[in-house]
Amino acid sequence: MESTKGTVNCFTVDLEEWFQGLTSTNPQVERWPQFESRVVPATDLLLEILRAYNVKATFFVLGHVADHHPQLIERIGADGHELGIHGYYHRFVHRMTRDEFAHEIEQSCRALERLTGQLPRGHRAPYFSVNSECTWAFDVLQDFGIRYDSSVFPTRNMLYGFPEAPRFVYRPAGSNLVEFPASTVRLAGRNWPMAGGFYMRALPYGVTRRAIRRLNKQGEGAILYIHPWELDTEQHYTDVTPRERITHYHGRHTVEAKLHKLFSDFTFAPMNELYLQFRRAEPAPATGAFMPEPVLARVKG
Ligand SMILES: [Zn+2]
Repeated sequence: MESTKGTVNCFTVDLEEWFQGLTSTNPQVERWPQFESRVVPATDLLLEILRAYNVKATFFVLGHVADHHPQLIERIGADGHELGIHGYYHRFVHRMTRDEFAHEIEQSCRALERLTGQLPRGHRAPYFSVNSECTWAFDVLQDFGIRYDSSVFPTRNMLYGFPEAPRFVYRPAGSNLVEFPASTVRLAGRNWPMAGGFYMRALPYGVTRRAIRRLNKQGEGAILYIHPWELDTEQHYTDVTPRERITHYHGRHTVEAKLHKLFSDFTFAPMNELYLQFRRAEPAPATGAFMPEPVLARVKG
């Protein structure tokens, strides 16, 4: 069997509660306390699997989860995983104004900083919701000292997508930010999602493996993602839309076994390592290019 172990992939986790990811319960923040919190045991299971294969991942943490489960965040950090942000209330970026988005980013940066003493460098938008309508999000992120982002899904589905975006790591026009799009495969003139979440649950593992091998043979690391609730086979909430029944619950029982195979088959590193690798391979910046001082560093305290 041909080895693709040499190419480094990135396994990312969007750290949120099951009810924060459902589009029907997500906007009703006032109802969140009524729902059973399950993020801790689900994440602990994921941490155990990652530990067994010595895989270091990048966790994009929802600010609300950081504030409610600080010890979980500390355990993730203690295991050597990278911590980035995933907004505070899990809102679609393209439904917010620029100021509202800036407020979410500030809140989520502060939540992590309170726990780690450091400002995060990486961001993923809830629902991969950065698209052609809200590329101002890159400027806002840069203002807050974010160096790399993974919020673009260069495909189209019912909820999100930015099909015209590049498929591989790039710098958005006019930005110093580096974007790591969620991985897709190119087939019959279209970009097909395969990068994790619903697609990993729904597709047989052999299809995911072939897709990652194909990317690795092109010298590209796959950017994969998962949510802790996708491993939680004991969570049952019946008041969901027919679409959510599929997008949120289908195939959960297959995920644990698939992760064991995935971590055996491929090599992974946190996104900050892929970022440094990308920076090293880049041509020297043009004269005058600079990274502005982050807003939070200026107004620290
Ligand atoms: Zn999310």
